[in-house]
Amino acid sequence: MTEELNPFKIAQQQFDEAAKILGLEPAMREMLRWPRREYRFTIPVKLDDGTTRIFHGYRVQYNDARGPTKGGLRWHPDETMDTVRALSAWMTWKTAVVDIPLGGGKGGITCDPKKLSEGEKERLARGWMRVAARELGEHRDSPAPDVYTTPQIMAWMMDEYETIVGRSHPAVITGKPLPLGGSQGRGDATARGGVYTVREACKVLDVDPHGAYAVQGFGNAGQYAALLHQEVLGGGKLVAVSDSGGGVYNPDGIDPRAIVDHKLKSGVVKDFPGTKPISNEDLLELDVNVLYPSALENVIHGRNAGNIKARICCELANGPTTPEADQILHNNGVHVIPDFLANAGGVTVSYFEQVQGTYNYFWTLEQVHRELDEKMTRAYHDVLKMQKSMNVHPRLAAYLVSVARVAEAVKLRGWV
Ligand code: NAD
Repeated sequence: MTEELNPFKIAQQQFDEAAKILGLEPAMREMLRWPRREYRFTIPVKLDDGTTRIFHGYRVQYNDARGPTKGGLRWHPDETMDTVRALSAWMTWKTAVVDIPLGGGKGGITCDPKKLSEGEKERLARGWMRVAARELGEHRDSPAPDVYTTPQIMAWMMDEYETIVGRSHPAVITGKPLPLGGSQGRGDATARGGVYTVREACKVLDVDPHGAYAVQGFGNAGQYAALLHQEVLGGGKLVAVSDSGGGVYNPDGIDPRAIVDHKLKSGVVKDFPGTKPISNEDLLELDVNVLYPSALENVIHGRNAGNIKARICCELANGPTTPEADQILHNNGVHVIPDFLANAGGVTVSYFEQVQGTYNYFWTLEQVHRELDEKMTRAYHDVLKMQKSMNVHPRLAAYLVSVARVAEAVKLRGWV
């Protein structure tokens, strides 16, 4: 039988396992295994050549029992309703695991932003907001950046929203540039939160934080993971990084700052001086203390999980590991910090950005880091405690923590 790779089916499969252990009643299970609301949009955009193209966009509000839904917008050629559904489900578990008063949502547009000019991107961002605006708002649902969406795109969208509603509304969207009400510390929050959990895992497992580490995917999450691993943990040897164009490897170590600069300048990591090429697949199987999958879904699956040698796998990407691989990693003693815990730093600082935007007073970088550290550290230990008490793998433990919290809110509201 071939392994299931539809991300939403995987998300439901993961949820079902937790629901069974928690003994959720059938109505609660049905409620939590589906999104509450889904929207599909057609977005006409005038291209630079004078023609008009219709783009397809999505927004899914998965569950708002604990608070208004929140989640990123992905612009990717492979974006489908099912990837958005899966990501919105994971957002629901993510906001619950870090215990912030929000639900989970997600959105996206099927497009290849690398083939769009700046003007076309702006018209696409504003076009998405024009059709989605009536479903959004900080008390309803608020977007943020994700794969291939940027603070500039968030700024255009906020401007369009404020133009539609006719008043200031900075908290409708997060991940904005600082001069437009962005938060200090939002840029590196996802990776920073992940590195905080790695710090805790190293202590618990007695793993040397100064050993080798590797990063797959070298965008926002991956680049900051490369830099912050050393900054937060006080050392560590970066041995490999990769992006969609392939990877580079040097067992003696790669200077994270220099490779980030190289990527920002050339757009790719390949040909970085002093390194050998390595494929994305081989990078995952390197003998490292910490592995950061920071690209896309399903990269660790039934066929390669047995070859993963990392002691700690900190999933900054959403959905990088299939359920079959999860069990193999657990049996082999690989400590997985599951995606919706590992990468919750982004939404946590997005939440801080909303709070600051709402009362129009902004925190220092130190305060953001302190509050983020507290939330991530507490969430990591909540999951670890569950893992030990239920004797399950870490992802299932994280699900047990989150699903129980969301189910409690659903129950208290009297929905089920
Ligand atoms: P990004 O667009 O900044 O970077 C994505 C990177 O992945 C790029 O370097 C790209 O070249 C690389 N990539 C694409 N396809 C690849 C492939 N097949 N193999 C290897 N690399 C590939 O995106 P990001 O914001 O860094 O997001 C990366 C992951 O982290 C996604 O799964 C995203 O959902 C997750 N995430 C991001 C945030 C955030 O705040 N940025 C928050 C939570 C989760």
